Amino acid sequence: MPAIDNNDLTGTTRRKPKADVTELGGHALSPSTLMMGYGYDPMLSEGSLKPPIFLTSTFAFESAAAGKRHFEGITGKRPGGAEGLVYSRFNGPNQEILEARLGVWEKAEDALVFSSGMSAIATLLLAHVNMNDVIVHSGPLYAATETLIARILSRFGASYVDFPAEASREEMDAILARAQEMATKQGGKVAMVYLESPANPTNALVDVQAMRAAVDDAFAADARPPIAIDNTFLGPLWSKPLAHGADIVLYSLTKYAGGHSDLVAGGVLGAKQWLGPIRMMRNTIGTICDPHTAWMLLRSLETVELRMSRAGENAEKVCAFLKQHPKVEGLGYLGFLQDGPQKDIFERHCTGAGSTFSLFIKGGETESFRFLDALRIAKLAVSLGGTETLASHPAAMTHLSVPDERKAALGITDNLVRVSIGIEDADDLIADFDQALAAV
Ligand SMILES: *Cc1c(COP(=O)(O)O)cnc(C)c1O
Repeated sequence: MPAIDNNDLTGTTRRKPKADVTELGGHALSPSTLMMGYGYDPMLSEGSLKPPIFLTSTFAFESAAAGKRHFEGITGKRPGGAEGLVYSRFNGPNQEILEARLGVWEKAEDALVFSSGMSAIATLLLAHVNMNDVIVHSGPLYAATETLIARILSRFGASYVDFPAEASREEMDAILARAQEMATKQGGKVAMVYLESPANPTNALVDVQAMRAAVDDAFAADARPPIAIDNTFLGPLWSKPLAHGADIVLYSLTKYAGGHSDLVAGGVLGAKQWLGPIRMMRNTIGTICDPHTAWMLLRSLETVELRMSRAGENAEKVCAFLKQHPKVEGLGYLGFLQDGPQKDIFERHCTGAGSTFSLFIKGGETESFRFLDALRIAKLAVSLGGTETLASHPAAMTHLSVPDERKAALGITDNLVRVSIGIEDADDLIADFDQALAAV
C-alpha cells in the first residue's frame, strides 16, 4: 500500500496522520487491522477517536496563494488532484479517509468514492470514452450498466462489442480484433475493456489474466485501453483483480462494503494514471459521495472481513443443505464448480465462493413464488451483500424488462431464485429454507 508521507502533498489524502503504522518490525499489517485507524489522526480533530462528520460546503484557505495552488490541482493544471480542501463537490475529509482505507484492500495507488455504484460507472465511462470510440465488454452486465453503454453512450457516438463472460483466450483475441477494426473504421479508438465477474445472475467468471494477456498482445504498450472490472460480488475480500491484470476496479459499495442495506455508494480503485481523468470528471459533474455516507462506510469497513467471512461460511452450509434437497433442481454457487475452465479461473482469481448464488427450484414461477412467499427469516428484496439474507426472482424483478430470448440465453428461467446469504445463524437459515421448500 502507498506509504504515507506528510511532506508529499500530491496524494489523494491531505489530512494525513502524522504516523500511520502500516507495519511492525517488517511485519506488514493486514487490511482488517488498518480499517480501525488508517488515514485518520485523532489529534487533527480535537482527539476525537472517530472522525467527525464534516458537514460543510466549502473550506477556508490558509492564504490566497494556497487557494491558487489548490485550484491548480482541481483544474488539472497540476496532476495529482487538490493538495487542500476546496469545496465539497471536489473532496472532503470523510471521503478522503474512506478512499485511503478502500485502497488498502487491493493495494491500489488511488481510490475515488461516489454517490452510487452507477454514478461511479457513469463517471468512469464519461472520463475515458469519446465519440467514435468502441467499448469492449463482457456479458451479461449489471442491467443499468448495459443500458448506459448500449442506449446512452450510443447517443454520443460511442459504440460497443460484447462477448460472453466465460470466453476463451481465442474468443478474446477475436473480439479485440473486431473492436480495433470497428474503431479504425469509425475514426476512434478502443477506449476500454469493461468486465463484470462473476456475472449476475449466471455467476460466470471472466478470465482477467487471459484478457490482460490478450490486450497486451493486441495493442502497443502506450496505446492500450484500460481494463476495468466491476468487483461488487466478490470484493474486496474474495477477489482482487488489480493483482490479476485489471487497471481499474469498480464497486457498488451499497453491497458488501456497506453491508447493512442502509446506504448507496460507489468506488473506483486503480493507478493514478487511470484515475486522474475520472477524478477530473467527478469534480466537474459532482458524483462524489456525501460526508455522512462516507462516515457510515468507514464504520462498515471495520467489520467487512468479519461480515463477509461469516456470510461466506453460512452460504457454504446453506448450499450444502440445498444441494441434496429433493425440491431443488440445481444451484449456481461458485463453491460447487465442476472441474473445467470456470473452476480453473475460480482457483486462480478467487479466495472464496461468495455468499450470493442462484437456486433453481423444481417447477416454474408458481413454485418459486410459493417458496419466496413462505420464507420467514430471509427477506424478499433485491440487492445483496447485507447482514440479512435476501431472496428475489430475477425473471419477474431485476430482469423483468430483458427480452425473453436474451433471458433464455442467459439462463434466467422462471424457476430461478437469487439468494444473498447474510450473517444470521446458519442453522436458522437452513430451518427457514427447509420450511419454505416444504410449502412448495
Ligand atoms: C448494485 C450493483 C451496481 C450498481 O450499484 P448502485 O450502488 O445500486 O448504483 C453495479 N454493479 C453491480 C454488480 C451491482 O450489484
